[in-house]
Amino acid sequence: MGDEVNEFEKKLSDFFSRPVICLSNGTAALQLGLQGIGIKQGDEVLVPSLTYAASFQAISAIGAKPIACDIDSENFLIDIHDAQKRITLNTKAVMPVHYTGGADNLDDIYYFAKKNKLRVIEDAAHAFGTVYNDRKIGSFGDVICFSFDGIKNITSGEGGCIVTDDVEVLQKARDARLLGIEKDTEKRYSGERSWDFDINFQGWRYHMSNIMAAIGIVQLSRFSEFAKKRQKFAKLYDSLLKNHSSIKIIPRDYNTVVPHIYVIRILGLRNRQHIEQSMLNKGIQIGYHYQPNHWTSFYKNTKTLPLPVTDSIANEILTLPLHPDLNESDIRFIVSELNKEFI
Ligand SMILES: *Cc1c(COP(=O)(O)O)cnc(C)c1O
Repeated sequence: MGDEVNEFEKKLSDFFSRPVICLSNGTAALQLGLQGIGIKQGDEVLVPSLTYAASFQAISAIGAKPIACDIDSENFLIDIHDAQKRITLNTKAVMPVHYTGGADNLDDIYYFAKKNKLRVIEDAAHAFGTVYNDRKIGSFGDVICFSFDGIKNITSGEGGCIVTDDVEVLQKARDARLLGIEKDTEKRYSGERSWDFDINFQGWRYHMSNIMAAIGIVQLSRFSEFAKKRQKFAKLYDSLLKNHSSIKIIPRDYNTVVPHIYVIRILGLRNRQHIEQSMLNKGIQIGYHYQPNHWTSFYKNTKTLPLPVTDSIANEILTLPLHPDLNESDIRFIVSELNKEFI
């Protein structure tokens, strides 16, 4: 970690108009973000079950408890009325996930958090570049975490970052990513090394390497090109699918949302594996984002309130291909082949 990481952080800070700390991946960003706001053993964090395992693992990695919440059946984002019912004396934070890139309910989430005295740590891994109420996700709010994994809106091969104004979170994350070695970030950025140093807390080897940052810098410079394509393809999918009798699209405004994935809901779907295989035979890879976390052995909790919306939606969702190397005729081909599955 040195010059390239320093440079990538500066460029990201310009992008968000706020301080940024780069880390080895998005999961590390979530973990250090949680630790930065003081989440510890026994604390509870509200999080939608319909998310990548990383959101849950980042919470349990520090001994805290992820509390699986249900989602809104229209926008697939955390349902705060459901979340409200799961609050206990141990609840310390809420982690909204900007599923597919949308964050429609963010004002409500901040209102809910304020009312219940909770911190907000946004899992914005899907939402790099999304604009909410005329402001970029990350440019406002409490603690916002992004991923630069290979398939995200921009990539550094592997990487992630925290965006926040909270000086304590920033300083803790700077030290924690370099094994807790005090002020090692500052030394490395000025070309020095730390030989004599102090350690005040448990750290991790979660820094970003220069090689990853160098890739990230070039990707960031190409972001608007990638974003336009993702938005154009999602709009085209919407227009081709919106009148389909058994397919429901997730309503998102792709003039402001930069979609990471394109998810549809097929009402009454029971044979996803069959469709997956049949589409694969035509060269089209279908995905599934995600199997709910509360269905897994590690996070299953039979004593909690049920999650009826997540349980039914999770059986009916499919992810269609979406990335900048596609073109419009690919999208039309994918939809026409998908339509044949319904004959
Ligand atoms: C990708 C992703 C992460 C984690 O990012 P990594 O860089 O893969 O560690 C977290 N949450 C969600 C919703 C993601 O899609």
